[in-house]
Amino acid sequence: MTNKLSHYINGELVQGTSGRYVDVYNPAKGEVIARAPLASIEEIDRCVEVAAQAAESWAEATPGNRAKIMFNYLALLKQHKDEVIKTLSREHGKVLSDAEGELTRGMEVVEFACGIPSHLKGEFTEQVGSKIDSYSVRQPLGVCVGITPFNFPCMVPMWMYVMAIACGNSFILKPSERDPSTPLLLAKLFKQAGLPDGVFNVINGDKVAVDRLLEHPDIAAVSFVGSTPVAEYVYRTGTANNKRVQALGGAKNHLIIMPDADLDQATDALIGAAYGSAGERCMAISVAVVVGDETTDKLIEKLKPRVQALKIGSYTDAEAELGPVITKEAKQRIEGYIDAGVEHGAKLLVDGRGVKVADHEKGFFVGGCLFDNVTTDMTIYTDEIFGPVLSIVRVGDYETALKLINDHEYGNGTSIYTRDGDTARHFTRYAKIGMVGVNVPIPVPVAYHSFGGWKRSLFGDYSIHGMEGVRFYTRLKTVTTRWPTGIRAGADFNIPTMS
Ligand code: NAD
Repeated sequence: MTNKLSHYINGELVQGTSGRYVDVYNPAKGEVIARAPLASIEEIDRCVEVAAQAAESWAEATPGNRAKIMFNYLALLKQHKDEVIKTLSREHGKVLSDAEGELTRGMEVVEFACGIPSHLKGEFTEQVGSKIDSYSVRQPLGVCVGITPFNFPCMVPMWMYVMAIACGNSFILKPSERDPSTPLLLAKLFKQAGLPDGVFNVINGDKVAVDRLLEHPDIAAVSFVGSTPVAEYVYRTGTANNKRVQALGGAKNHLIIMPDADLDQATDALIGAAYGSAGERCMAISVAVVVGDETTDKLIEKLKPRVQALKIGSYTDAEAELGPVITKEAKQRIEGYIDAGVEHGAKLLVDGRGVKVADHEKGFFVGGCLFDNVTTDMTIYTDEIFGPVLSIVRVGDYETALKLINDHEYGNGTSIYTRDGDTARHFTRYAKIGMVGVNVPIPVPVAYHSFGGWKRSLFGDYSIHGMEGVRFYTRLKTVTTRWPTGIRAGADFNIPTMS
């Protein structure tokens, strides 16, 4: 029997009333395991009302008390780790060790949020004028919204709601309809940690829900992570409705391999970063830009057998290195790109189409694919495939490699493998990309730095989590005070100055 999922509003699981549902799959089995409700406009409005009420009292909670709840939450997340990662893997398909990594990354945001009293400390200047003092504080915005993608059902929501709530806002999460159970579990644990009802709400839904949230007058800010077309739409619609919006989009991340690179390290990097989580990561490396034919041939010698040996399987298989992709449609789309790559003249060195996993015949599996001789006019180069497909582009020199990266429409992450400090320094300075690595495969910033791309990988002015998160979820107020004792300044018609 399929499990009927709920919304989570005002500290309780609430059945959907719209009559609309979406099937939720176990992608490893290719079977429906649950049905998630799709919220109506009325349900969204009710949820916003609850969140708006909760925002008022939560904004009065001291930063110290908010931090105490974060400490409790951290302990509960540790205690319930196995339940969270199993729930996550069952609906997403990623292997358990990868799910654990995702939860750990999310918990690091909670750890950062435990320091919120310190992060929210303002600035004070004594005596900006005669007997006049000035200070700046950051105040919460009110009701904030998060709209999140399927590929990180735990970490990406935590980038948002943990920071927003620590800053004194209430929050409505609209998670991906593909894997909605993890956010419901995270919400339940937050209540157990002592979070007052209504401060964190989870509403399941599709475009109907997103559109209502984007136009609702009582929503102050919207964080979005997902594909670029939707990110752009959310940014434009949200800002047109006077909301603060950060919208993180898709990616096509390149890794440059210089002739002086350690090729064993580069091979390890490519295997993990291109094929981990079946390539369904916005920081996955999908293009290897190799400088020189000799380097390329040597790299392929090491890389190809490793791609052929990748262990594809269900999350229940402890040996599996990568699981299925999220849906049947995603599998068809990825295989369509592979067909197109062959048609356009790229050399398919390893073909992952048609892979079968024992006892999981209906699962949405795609095996690791490796292309050589990819050129910039091919769709396998231009488009985000979001699957286990790595393209090798051969270039003659570093300058051409850098130009490729800078000319691409996406600007999320990139990395270079080299032993040369000058080249590495030039790269970190001149790559037009938001997150840059040197001899590291996936340069995902830790929780106390901030995450965000450039170009069509991020719409808006703020990156996510870290101090950028604090700035996004608060607004600055500057106060100038003077106490009246012994002062008679008289009317002054000139603009005040420091003298
Ligand atoms: P998606 O854009 O299809 O969905 C993201 C969210 O938007 C979901 O909650 C979905 O319900 C909603 N949505 C989808 N279509 C909509 C529409 N037409 N109108 C309004 N809302 C809509 O993305 P996805 O397939 O769930 O996730 C994969 C994408 O997310 C990839 O492009 C990946 O690169 C990107 N991503 C980016 C980052 C980043 O930090 N830049 C991180 C993770 C994932």
